[in-house]
Formats: sequence, C-alpha cells, structure tokens
Amino acid sequence: MVLMSKVRTRFAPSPTGFMHVGNLRTGLFAWLVARHADGKFILRLEDTDKNREVVGSADHILKCLETLGIDTDEGLDKGGPFAPYKQSSRLDIYKRWAQKLIDSGRAYADPYTPEEVQEFRNQAKNKKQAFLFRNHRPENPPSWDGTTPLRFKSDPKSYNWHDEVMGDLSSGPEVIDDFIIIKSDGYPTYNFAHIVDDAEMQISHVIRGQEFISSQPNYMNLYEALELVPPIFATMPHILNEHGNKKLGKRDGAKDVLNYIQEGYLPETLLSFIATLGWNDGTEQEIFTQKELIEKFSLSRVQKSGARFDEKRLLWMNGQFIRELPLSDLYQRVGAFWPESAKNSTDDYRMQVLSLAQDRLKTLSDLAILTNYFFVDTEPNLLLISGNKQLKKIKPAEQVQLLETTKARLSQIKEWKAADIQDCLNNLLMETDQKPGTLFSLIRIATTWAPFSPQLNDTMGLIGRDVCLRRIDQAIELIDKT
Ligand code: GLU
Repeated sequence: MVLMSKVRTRFAPSPTGFMHVGNLRTGLFAWLVARHADGKFILRLEDTDKNREVVGSADHILKCLETLGIDTDEGLDKGGPFAPYKQSSRLDIYKRWAQKLIDSGRAYADPYTPEEVQEFRNQAKNKKQAFLFRNHRPENPPSWDGTTPLRFKSDPKSYNWHDEVMGDLSSGPEVIDDFIIIKSDGYPTYNFAHIVDDAEMQISHVIRGQEFISSQPNYMNLYEALELVPPIFATMPHILNEHGNKKLGKRDGAKDVLNYIQEGYLPETLLSFIATLGWNDGTEQEIFTQKELIEKFSLSRVQKSGARFDEKRLLWMNGQFIRELPLSDLYQRVGAFWPESAKNSTDDYRMQVLSLAQDRLKTLSDLAILTNYFFVDTEPNLLLISGNKQLKKIKPAEQVQLLETTKARLSQIKEWKAADIQDCLNNLLMETDQKPGTLFSLIRIATTWAPFSPQLNDTMGLIGRDVCLRRIDQAIELIDKT
C-alpha cells in the first residue's frame, strides 16, 4: 500500500537577482526534507516587492535549481493544483483572505501618511519607548478602498512555540503589533502573503532564514486570526564569513551560485558543500552524494549556531569530487575548459592528458593552465629556475650540463614509455649525483615550463620524445644566454 505523504515543503525566493550559496541553502534543505520523507517540493516566487525586483531573476532561480539537480513537484516551472505559484498573479486570493479579516474586525484601513507614522516613531524614540503602531490605532478607521495600506489588528499576547532547529521559543505581548498586510500599491506584504500561500498550498514545514524569527510571534497572531493551524517551523542558522565572526556578505566572496559553475565547480560539490553549511550527519563525513543527502538529512541535525563559509573547503571538496568522477564523465564535463591549444588534438590524446591531470584539478578551469604544454610549446619562464630553492644553488653552466646528460640518456631509451622513462630518470639521479627535487625540477621546467605537472615520467611519456628533446634543446640555448 502506498501511503500518501503529508510532507510539503516550499522554496519561496524573491526575484532580486542574486542567488548566493546562503539563499540556495534554504531551498536545498526544504528539498531534502521533502525528498527524505517522500513528500512534495514546491517552488513559489515571492514577487510582491516591485521595487526590489530584477528582470530575469525568475529564470536565474530556475537555472540554479536545475543545475544543482533540485527538482520541483509543483510550482513556478511546473504548475500544479495550487497554481499560480507567482505571488503577483495571486492578488485576488490575498484580497479574499484580507476581506475575511476585515469582516471579522481584524484588519483596518491605515489612515496615516508615511510622515505621520514617522512622527509617531519619533515621539516613541524621544520617550525612549519601543514604537508600536497599535498605540495609534485610529478610533474610527475609514472603510478600506484599496488606496491606503490595510493593517492587521493584532491581539497582543505571549507565545511559546517550537522550532525544529532553534528549539522551544517564547515571546511576550510587547512584540506583537499591527502590521501592514496589503500595501497601498495593492500588493500584499511578505508577512501576509506567505501565510496565505503556505495555508492554501498546504505547506507542512516552513523552512527559512533567521531574519524572520523575530516576526514569528506576529505570524502566530495572524494564524490565529485566520483560524489556521500553523505549520512546522525550522529556522536556518546564519551563514558566517570564513572567520566565523560576522554574517556572510558579498564582500566575503559570496558569489552567485552559477558563477561557481562557470569557474569549474561541479554541481555535486556545491550540493554537498551547501548541505553541510550548518548540517552534518553526526559522523566525520564531509562529502555527500545527492543520494546520501536524501537518505541522511534531518532537520534535527541542523545546528543552531552560525555556519562558517569556507571557500578553501569548497575548493578542496571540488578536487575530491573531480577525482572520483569516471574519466569519461569528467571528459564530457570539461569540454569548455580545454586550453585554446587543445583545439586540434584528438579525443584520444585529450583523454590521456585528462587522465594525468584529473587528480590535480581543483576546479575544471585549472585544466587550461595545467595542460597547455601537452598541446603546444609554452613561453619559457626562467624565473621558474631562478626562483626554485634547489635550482638557484646551481650555476647555469652546470644546469646546461645536467640537461645535456639528460638529453643523451633520454635519446637512448628503447621504447618511449612511462616505466622506461622512470628507469632512465632514476639512473640519471645516480649518474649526476643529484637529488630528485633538483634534477627532476629542472627537467620538468625544461620540458613543460610549468611549476608543477603530473608525474614527470607520465608527462614526458605523453608529450613524446621528440618534443621533450626539442624543448630541452631550447632550454639549454636559453640558459646558455644568461
Ligand atoms: N521571499 C522570502 C525571501 O526570499 C522567503 C522567506 C520564506 O521562505 O518564507 O527571503
């Protein structure tokens, strides 16, 4: 028998243009709660603040979700039984619910101009009191004609409630106030619209950021006035900068999620990284596949305290994910990241290059720098020699001598393959009485002009004997001139 699941979570972003890792975490956690419980995940666009709206944001949100494999069951992209899923197309619904409040005496037309409200605020400040709109409720409010704000008439009282992450919380009547539910432009406020929508869309869990927790008592008050049973609440901890001492901001490097993809981060890395911003499974495990996340995720293991956003950890994690990918899969993904010079080479050759580079890639965009010399002679950079701790101890004439000997021995290798090249390199160490850190660095630099490369023998094996010998010749010539 299939049991109908009642878990329905939603991601309710506002189309304000930028989707950083923190924004997306709320969506990811809501999705994981739904998928873990075999429930439904709904995407709702909260576009009632027309001043903050950025064109193209809705598509951007959809693209972010799609890229990370966060699929929806209902919503903006799919439609569904509670369509439309875009708040600006639901104005009649909010009016209907607002009318209920007007009819029961729990909403009134706000007769004041913004200047008058400001004056009330100033008065409270001068008296060193907290400003409460309800102290200024008009005695005989005009009937609401839609041209002024409509306010909720609150019923101040204390609340105790449970938050799945923050635990048992409470508040006193002093924080309850009359807030605007419909603005004078006809759009509802977030404070009203999300409650109406969550009820209409039968949302079971409201999972959102900490910035809303101080308004929670007012939301409780509104649930009561609307005779609604509140959903389950789960408040996400803040995301902090890498030092863990303040909320993450754009200045701390919080980029748009799609920027990370463009820079060569894998979607599975971002998923695992974002999921572990404030959640763990109770073990030391740091890296999770999508399947593992769905299996293991629970709100009870989301931490209360802020989660540190550490880009170094993200980079490390990406390297781990890249390393785990089957070569053919990685090959499919690196298409746009090859250096220009790789354009005319064969799939087979590129695949061999990739298999050598795979373990060293931290992001896919490292590929260009890391592999250019497999395809083309790169610009010699003598600083690599003069700046090398070991090599700078050796005079240029001696460097030339070492390269000459290397060239001679490499020419004698019968079959140009990695194992034989390694034997030759080992013999060269004995013959020249040098340390690997010195001799191999010199050979690496002369054949690649790169500060590091995959295993030297593998690298030279793939570059080919002729090219290696030619590059060594060029290096000798260059060093000779110094
Ligand atoms: N539209 C709100 C935001 O983007 C959503 C808050 C919520 O999930 O209820 O912050």
